[in-house]
Amino acid sequence: MKFTSLGFASLTAAIVIAVSQAWGQPAPAVDALLTNPKIVKSLEDIKADDARTFEEQKRITEIPAPPYKEKVRAEYYQKRMQELGFKDAAIDSEGNVIALRKGSGGGRPKLVVSAHLDTVFPEGTDVTVKEKDGATIAPGIGDDSRGLAAMLSLIKIMNANEISTVGDIMFVGTVGEEELGNLRGVKALFRDHRDIDGFISIDGLGITRVVNQATGSHRYEFIFKGPGGHSFQEFGLPSAIHAMGRAIAKISELQPPSDPKTTFTVGTVVGGTSVNAIAAEARMAVDMRSNSEEELLKLEARLLDLVKEAVADENARWKSDKLSVEARMIGDRPAGIVSMDSPIVVATQRAVAAVTRAPRVTFAGSSTDSNIAMSLGIPAVTIGGGGEGGNWHSRNEWYKPTDAYYGPQNALLTILMLTGLDGVSKPALAVRPAAK
Ligand SMILES: [Zn+2]
Repeated sequence: MKFTSLGFASLTAAIVIAVSQAWGQPAPAVDALLTNPKIVKSLEDIKADDARTFEEQKRITEIPAPPYKEKVRAEYYQKRMQELGFKDAAIDSEGNVIALRKGSGGGRPKLVVSAHLDTVFPEGTDVTVKEKDGATIAPGIGDDSRGLAAMLSLIKIMNANEISTVGDIMFVGTVGEEELGNLRGVKALFRDHRDIDGFISIDGLGITRVVNQATGSHRYEFIFKGPGGHSFQEFGLPSAIHAMGRAIAKISELQPPSDPKTTFTVGTVVGGTSVNAIAAEARMAVDMRSNSEEELLKLEARLLDLVKEAVADENARWKSDKLSVEARMIGDRPAGIVSMDSPIVVATQRAVAAVTRAPRVTFAGSSTDSNIAMSLGIPAVTIGGGGEGGNWHSRNEWYKPTDAYYGPQNALLTILMLTGLDGVSKPALAVRPAAK
């Protein structure tokens, strides 16, 4: 994941609770959890498991998981889930690893807790974990090996302490979160399971940054094609490169809104065969992003029109009809936002405050597995797995397990507020009406 913008600081808990109670759902309550002996012990156990969790994180990192090639890591993750008590942990048709932890409420509400299996790194990347200047360095060590390891620690301690929830929890190791995967794992998950009431992705470090906005993106490759010909003998034919240049000139004048943040760029261009040839082909890749689905679609419609205009202009210039363009969508991530008074957002604030004893949470927009849930109107957040790090998506990605156990502790409290703790608290997560 990558944070793309920073949002606003937390509202006060008092206002937030009043709003969520008005919805007829019990407000996420953390106090009853913090005084429950089983939960107190579980939080201590998570801390005691810290070093083992870090070892697991390194082990996972050393199993390569390039886009579309997550299988070996998925099989390892499935095996670990089985060892921790989920004998039925399975890999679905898309490649996601899924374990269902049943609650006492007959299956609802159902909360997904996930971390992503894939990395951005291509096959053959050296994923050996190294130590340097007090940090642990390896591609993917934080993104998202931390989330995967934090989730295993959480599962282990919940099962060992026989924590019984009201709602069901679906633990999922997802495939296809990073760019090329286009969120194919979660897309399949929501296609196959229509009864999901809430979604949490553990992705990113620390715990005080929470993603409640999905930055959507649409990406296109445009392929301009013309007759091509000699630059001197056949002068007078339309050029694929000239047409693309016209398109880029038009696109660069677009003025999308700054709030909700909406952006575009022509990221790559390629084309032509020789300096003395009228180009027969040219290609460009365009990235468009927005925190608002509506603005994203508006920008996309305008940009597609501009490209067509550019082709028409180039044809008109040479009185031709020989130049054409093909638009190919190569990326599609929907945008969305979860409101500040949604119980899932309130629960994250209360959990962070309880774990760190400092109540400030920074909310952010990002492109993560939560995009799909958010775009479907399903309450969702992306929370951190604990620890600190940097150089995301680079071979020099580093990680330090500073207060790393905060990650699974925070996840545990957030989850229990949402699913309810059997005999202690009711689920704050509402059961959604049956999906069609
Ligand atoms: Zn990630």
